[in-house]
Amino acid sequence: MNYTIAALPGDGIGPEIMESGLTLLETLGKKFQHEFNVTVYPFGGAGIDETGDPIPPQTIKGCSEADAILLAAIGGPKWEKAEKTPEDGLLQLRKTLGLFSNIRPIAVSDSIAHLSPLKTERVKGTDFIVVRELTGGLYFGQPKHWNDEEATDTLFYKKSEIERIVRQAFDIAMTRGKKLTSVDKANVLASSKLWRKTVNEIATEYPEVTVDHLYVDAASMKIIQNPTAFDVIVTENMFGDILSDEASVITGSLGMLPSGSHAVSGPSLYEPIHGSAPDIAGKNIANPMSMILSVAMMLRQSFQLHEEADTLEKAANEVMDAGFLTADLGGTTTTTAFTEQVKAILEK
Ligand code: ATP
Ligand code: MG
Repeated sequence: MNYTIAALPGDGIGPEIMESGLTLLETLGKKFQHEFNVTVYPFGGAGIDETGDPIPPQTIKGCSEADAILLAAIGGPKWEKAEKTPEDGLLQLRKTLGLFSNIRPIAVSDSIAHLSPLKTERVKGTDFIVVRELTGGLYFGQPKHWNDEEATDTLFYKKSEIERIVRQAFDIAMTRGKKLTSVDKANVLASSKLWRKTVNEIATEYPEVTVDHLYVDAASMKIIQNPTAFDVIVTENMFGDILSDEASVITGSLGMLPSGSHAVSGPSLYEPIHGSAPDIAGKNIANPMSMILSVAMMLRQSFQLHEEADTLEKAANEVMDAGFLTADLGGTTTTTAFTEQVKAILEK
């Protein structure tokens, strides 16, 4: 089969980990006889440097026409004061593509459980997904303004916006442990009352899925106290932002975690959850796992290439199990050496 992929390496460690992801994608393509047609586009700070725009027209066009998009990371001190920042470019891309859901798996395999800052026994077997609403809620609601005396943000959701993200979460739960935890603050927030009511309505369409509701404050404790209790978590934009960063700590490094963002139709976008890590850029020490797992997510979710995705994840985990760890996990393996190890397994 033939697949068109838009690759956005971006800034900082972005190009280094993208190189890793694309190398392994090419290797997989040869192994399974797929044609992955990858085109690299300028985006973020790299877009500003090349064209003066963090999201140049050719990048928007290339992304819109692709079957899927791989993004590494954007931003850095160099562009903080730009008229249009790299982050503005990312918001524009999400908006243009209508990416309303952000999916973040948090999984701890037995072999990396001891790398967690939490007790090994507590995190062993952790395997859940945070489904975060991405285009509504507190981050986008109007009115939104501030001055030196007062400030307003608005937490607004239309029922249809809640329905589509909740349905997606139920669909994901059906493919996994059939357990859905909806996180809200329905004791205080009006938007959460509608959220909870909507979840309960949609639950009747999925009788096989066990549903529970947690207040966001209780959920943030339980994620640390008992992470293995979760299967799929669904929540609004800001709660999802905070909970997924909190959950990332469980695995021991930000450098381990991928994400996928989906629209109603059109290409999905896959990217690590971390930023461009300017502090370690250019040193060949970044952990490429977040990018490798993002590639695996793309293969599975956009192309239904399950065997290929499993093969890639298995090879990468094998390399970690053998003790090849990057600096963020206390090892000395470089980005390129890690990639070569995975490649060697794939080529076997
Ligand atoms: P952003 O605002 O873009 O989310 P951030 O300020 O949250 O960025 P990151 O760039 O995500 O920060 O980096 C946070 C810390 O995690 C840094 O010390 C960085 O070096 C480290 N880090 C992030 N990604 C990786 C990775 N893939 N490998 C190793 N370390 C990483
Ligand atoms: Mg951050």
